[in-house]
Amino acid sequence: MKEKVHIDPVIGEVRLRKSARSRRISIRVHPRHGVVVTVPSYVAYAMGVTFLESRREWVLAALERANARNADLPEGEDIESLRAKAKAALPPRLAEFAARYGFIYHRVTIKHNTSNWGSCSSKGNINLNLNLMRVPVPLQDYILLHELTHLRHPDHGPAFHTELERLLADHIAQNAEDETFQSFFPAIRASRARYPISHTLENEIRKYRPV
Ligand SMILES: [Zn+2]
Repeated sequence: MKEKVHIDPVIGEVRLRKSARSRRISIRVHPRHGVVVTVPSYVAYAMGVTFLESRREWVLAALERANARNADLPEGEDIESLRAKAKAALPPRLAEFAARYGFIYHRVTIKHNTSNWGSCSSKGNINLNLNLMRVPVPLQDYILLHELTHLRHPDHGPAFHTELERLLADHIAQNAEDETFQSFFPAIRASRARYPISHTLENEIRKYRPV
């Protein structure tokens, strides 16, 4: 793929790329690589610049959103590195839990959004938010087990909670020697909720916010 750097007077540095596979001009605002304009290989770079200039407002707004998200992240962290970590860590653990507790899911996808930590579709596809890499492992596991439980109970009714509590109790017992898990024990013991483990972990994860 051929590439050229273009300096836009308002946006700043922009990478112009020629791609043999693309059929139209497109712009991507990448959290780490910045603004990338891709043009089909038979189109002149100048056409990419014209296109960029016609979309300047949109690019500036997208850059602002990307910067706002990264501002909430610890230094040296960005969305793309979280995505890479999440892809390496979460699917194998989901597979391990599914095997241990007898769940079958269709597909797992790592997503980036600010509205939920995870979701489970009626087709058995599980989505996990890359922001999970910013929360302690016991809370990640809580979300994984929560979504797996939805494969059997699509709602948040009593049957869902009974099953999830049973899985969490077993999972916590298996990690009883782990300090990160232990740090949640006092709150779980103090909880007077009907489902103390899920109630406590749900409260704990509310202290974090997907960005
Ligand atoms: Zn749920």
